[in-house]
Amino acid sequence: MSACPCGSKSDFMKCCKPFITGKAYPKTAEQLMRSRYTAYTRANVNYIADTMTGKAAEGFNKVDAKQWALAAKWLGLKVIRSEAGGENDETGLVEFIATYKLNAKRETISETSIFQKMAGKWLYVGGE
Ligand SMILES: [Zn+2]
Repeated sequence: MSACPCGSKSDFMKCCKPFITGKAYPKTAEQLMRSRYTAYTRANVNYIADTMTGKAAEGFNKVDAKQWALAAKWLGLKVIRSEAGGENDETGLVEFIATYKLNAKRETISETSIFQKMAGKWLYVGGE
């Protein structure tokens, strides 16, 4: 097995891969959040773009995002807190810390992301 980059300790094939290859949709906001992190580790910016909406999507630049995702060495994801975002919810919130190395410097992204389910699919709407 190859451990999924999202840190779930599950096999990549059974964890985020079905989502980022479009074979399945994440059932929870946390699954979507994890799969978006995994997509970054693989510089799969199409998946990132396809799983966001609203203001977040407006400010997203695929070319810049791809360059950044490729330049970064992704070190790991830690989910701190997950609120709602379940199969029967319409909104969800996930707090996480993502760590990566860029230009030999260790960086972290600490964010509380907001997710919304639209037409049965979880989408990222923004973070703070
Ligand atoms: Zn995963």
